[in-house]
Amino acid sequence: MAQTQGEGKRVAVVGGGIAGLAAAYELAVQAREQGLSLSLELFESSDRLGGAILTERVDDYVLDAGPDAVLTLKPWGLELCREIGLEDEIIPTQDEHRGVALYSRGRLRSLPYGTGSSAVRKVRAYVASGVVSWPAKLRMAADLVLPRGAQKQDESMADFFGRRLGREAVERIVDPLIAGIYSGDPDKLSIYSTFPRFPQMVAKQRSILLALLRAPQSARSGARTLPIFCSLRDGLGRMVEVIVERLGDTRIHLSTPVTAVEKADSGYSLETHAGRHNAYAGLILAAPAWTSARLLGDLAPGPADKMKAIRYVSSATVFFAYRTSDLGGRPRGFGFLVPACEGRRINGATWITNKFAHRSPDDGFLARCFIGGDRTGEEMRADDEGLVRICREELRDIAGITAQPLFSRVYRWKDSGPQYDVGHANLIGEVDTALAEHPGLEVTGAGFRGIGIPDCVYDGRETARRLIESLYK
Ligand SMILES: Cc1cc2nc3c(=O)[nH]c(=O)nc-3n(C[C@H](O)[C@H](O)[C@H](O)COP(=O)(O)OP(=O)(O)OC[C@H]3O[C@@H](n4cnc5c(N)ncnc54)[C@H](O)[C@@H]3O)c2cc1C
Repeated sequence: MAQTQGEGKRVAVVGGGIAGLAAAYELAVQAREQGLSLSLELFESSDRLGGAILTERVDDYVLDAGPDAVLTLKPWGLELCREIGLEDEIIPTQDEHRGVALYSRGRLRSLPYGTGSSAVRKVRAYVASGVVSWPAKLRMAADLVLPRGAQKQDESMADFFGRRLGREAVERIVDPLIAGIYSGDPDKLSIYSTFPRFPQMVAKQRSILLALLRAPQSARSGARTLPIFCSLRDGLGRMVEVIVERLGDTRIHLSTPVTAVEKADSGYSLETHAGRHNAYAGLILAAPAWTSARLLGDLAPGPADKMKAIRYVSSATVFFAYRTSDLGGRPRGFGFLVPACEGRRINGATWITNKFAHRSPDDGFLARCFIGGDRTGEEMRADDEGLVRICREELRDIAGITAQPLFSRVYRWKDSGPQYDVGHANLIGEVDTALAEHPGLEVTGAGFRGIGIPDCVYDGRETARRLIESLYK
């Protein structure tokens, strides 16, 4: 397929997850605002857009199978929602049910949650929760007096927090808190690429605890104070639907995996089952890093080799819908997290009905278990029935839930969780430098510069702006 005269520059985006969609959206915005003649195509291997974002309705239940919440502390996710007209559909977490528990030392223990209460109260609540032993509490307090220490180029989360707060705090507080985001291993994950805020706190204020105690209390957006997480009334899939509506003339090729990328006379060509697609002046790869690495194998073997080193893990979410009256008391809070050292078979569970409104009918209670990753990867070998059984046993043992669910659903996320291991920032720097030799070629997506919807939106849009600049300079 050759470029037709007068249709302007052709640009392709490979991958229709939120990063690719945000990139395509920004390309369309820039073309409109700058009056550029841009012909845009989006290639997606599966038969739907959204990637990890998937909302399904089962009866009156709304199941966000992948991400279920957008972090408000990073504004780019909600900014995009507002920009595309979803302001009125943004819903906060339900304050009246606020709370999260940690399964530690054999039972669930409530933790302070959110931005509402003062840091002093939060620290007190942590101390009272019994999540860690008394010797560990004293060791954590040492952070208040420890010197800054030499600034390191990078180190693991376990090394950083272990140095500041002690090993037990790493195992029982840090580990479960990262479970919900990375399903990762604090001994492998880079502190600078995951939570750079903490080394910055130490650099500026010498102590993590001091910095937390002095921190402002809430995220502000416009005139409203927002909780840490928000969602959309009908599920995050709405974001995907409405972005697509805003893509204008973009040609969307579903069920069209790109199998190779080559250099063509006037840019790049793509190989798909439908044949060769030629003459893209600009190309944004927004697939998982391991896919983009494979696609670039011949064209840019240097960056491709580095991208291959970005490790991914698989996970699953398992949903259970209950009749609340069958539960013998509605579970409290937003759910619980489990440290790996407890040796349980799930990473945690969310009480979806408590977390967000509009997710279940009256007298319905929706719960979701999170399993897999670096921590409970072995369990992922089970078939769907096996996963349901494991999750039900764990909900029984951890949270006392024995009720028969009305239905269950299993969603598998194979090789979809990038892990920012120690050295990740350097690796990405090297990828960027090497890719600079290929003008018009860009990579984005959760594997590179930020996990989570806000970061993927930010990076997708930034990547699109960079590409426009390079094409029209
Ligand atoms: C279970 C789970 C829970 C999560 N919870 C949250 C949360 O609550 N909040 C939050 O902010 N984030 C959460 N995340 C993370 C967040 O959802 C992801 O990081 C983000 O959606 C990734 O977007 P992406 O576009 O980079 O990648 P993806 O969503 O993986 O999209 C990549 C796309 O590329 C396509 N593709 C692959 N190969 C090809 C090819 N050869 N040709 C064409 N297309 C191809 C894929 O089909 C896919 O659609 C969660 C993730 C998971 C899995």
